[in-house]
Amino acid sequence: MKALYFEEHGGIQNLVFGNRPEPEPGPGEVRVRLKTAALNHLDLFVLGGMPGIPIGLPHIGGADGAGVVDALGAGVSAFEIGAEVVFDPGLSCGHCDYCRAGEQSLCVNFGVLGEHNDGTFAEKAVVAADSLAPRPDHLSWEEAAAFGLTYLTAWRMLMTRGGLRTGETLLIHGIGGGVSLACLQLGKLAGCRVIVTSRSPEKLARAGDLGADELLPADDQVARAVRGLTGKRGADVVVDSVGEATWMQSLKSAAKGGRIVTCGATSGPNPKEEIRLIFWNQLSVIGSTMGSRDDWRRLMTAVTGHLLRPVVDVVLPLAEGRTAYRRLEDAEQFGKIVLSIDG
Ligand SMILES: [Zn+2]
Repeated sequence: MKALYFEEHGGIQNLVFGNRPEPEPGPGEVRVRLKTAALNHLDLFVLGGMPGIPIGLPHIGGADGAGVVDALGAGVSAFEIGAEVVFDPGLSCGHCDYCRAGEQSLCVNFGVLGEHNDGTFAEKAVVAADSLAPRPDHLSWEEAAAFGLTYLTAWRMLMTRGGLRTGETLLIHGIGGGVSLACLQLGKLAGCRVIVTSRSPEKLARAGDLGADELLPADDQVARAVRGLTGKRGADVVVDSVGEATWMQSLKSAAKGGRIVTCGATSGPNPKEEIRLIFWNQLSVIGSTMGSRDDWRRLMTAVTGHLLRPVVDVVLPLAEGRTAYRRLEDAEQFGKIVLSIDG
């Protein structure tokens, strides 16, 4: 099968478009013939190599995708060959204490499709049958590939971990990436006032078109501006997936008793810290990763029930994967970078 893969960790020049063996589904798994896939920042980290996370080489990246069920492993009865599906890209063992409690993203062996095994940047990929959901009718194939990891991450951050409530003020740093846009859409769906930041005036304008209530330049005056917009109160919930570049503004922007939720650190993992702000303002700093199967089911209900559509930045053929990775690396995108696959 055709695939986008690499044989050595490194830069984008290491990506190869060529032939790889077709994967076979094991017990409880299905093989999906992919129509589309989508990039995440994780794909750049996996290509570059991550300390302590050994990856078998050659490796096919890609966590997100949508396609048609192509082969069934032993014991799979919930889906038939030909079913049009999307899937939760989380990988969990199914039998540790956390998995048995329904907290799959806390699994002691947790991983992500395309990180710990071969992913979706190929004509075919193998996923767990219980991760599958029918493709929502209102989504194109391109949109169907573009929401899994980011919407699931956003759902757990805001709803499950962040406890977001209608009427609260939500601050989202760095609007334009997949998780931040999903947080904007889910925050508006929840009836919140949403403040977004970006260094790009164009990205701010587009966020305004998507319903963002307040648009702020991403600089060291964010917290001051948030205080100004909220009668000195601050934001009830702050979403920070940027890390070093924004963390201090997150601490200063949060309302007393506020919650700062982090799911990533695209600008670096070691920000300057200010412990006094945390105890004096009684802040909660909350970590969040991907989501549980229950988060996934609730998310799918929201996506289908409210006809949510992820923002697609651009669609490129799988053969032009290097161009897609480069666009992500240069942070040029607004929404998801999607790969079309003629499986
Ligand atoms: Zn487990």
